[in-house]
Amino acid sequence: MTTSTSPTSSSSPLAERLQLVRAGIADAARTAGRSPDELTTIVVTKFHPAALVRELAELGVTDVGENRHQEAQAKAADLADLPLRWHFVGQLQSKKARQVRAYADVIHSIDRASLVDALRSDERDIDCFVQLNLTDDPARGGVADRDLEPLVDRVLETPGLRLLGVMAVAPLGEEPQRAFARVRAASERVRALSPDADRISAGMSQDYPAAIAEGATHLRIGTAITGNRPVAG
Ligand SMILES: *Cc1c(COP(=O)(O)O)cnc(C)c1O
Repeated sequence: MTTSTSPTSSSSPLAERLQLVRAGIADAARTAGRSPDELTTIVVTKFHPAALVRELAELGVTDVGENRHQEAQAKAADLADLPLRWHFVGQLQSKKARQVRAYADVIHSIDRASLVDALRSDERDIDCFVQLNLTDDPARGGVADRDLEPLVDRVLETPGLRLLGVMAVAPLGEEPQRAFARVRAASERVRALSPDADRISAGMSQDYPAAIAEGATHLRIGTAITGNRPVAG
């Protein structure tokens, strides 16, 4: 997100929420002794119509996130005239991998070898994160901590993928900063295998200050900016 774009007339509720979150991010960065320029804010627009994404783009948003393939594909096609970067942040079926590759700029949810293999390509590289599961529940998505290194190796040896780093969602019932400290430790293990893969995708509406404190570089923020999501239809 371009932090220099500050709309002078923040008249719409959307513009106001965006400004509030931008200010919150700047505050959290300052508190952590970091520069807000190190941070990429991805506005997660799942369940919202393409018109809202267009409005966000007019407010200077450059990075948007989606978690369902069909919805993301349709919006990316609708908004192909806009210079947006599309981040796929949801669980991804291997059989949909090639289609996601066609419109996504970054995939945050690489969590198993079969998905890595499905994303292999001799054409353009796509940026990706390996998602770490911070719970004991495999259904939450993400690779188990003990399987992190083998999965990272698999990504590194697969043509068509450029590893940015590690992604995680803080579990319910754990203090977010403790959870994000575990992500930071995992990031160090990833960097031991690939020094350039130093990015951390972590932090959502409720916990982004804690994520920033623990080194997050890519924040995935939905409702704090978009308002409540429409009910899934
Ligand atoms: C929906 C979603 C977000 C954004 O969540 P909010 O609580 O609305 O900020 C972030 N990351 C992932 C993986 C999501 O599915």
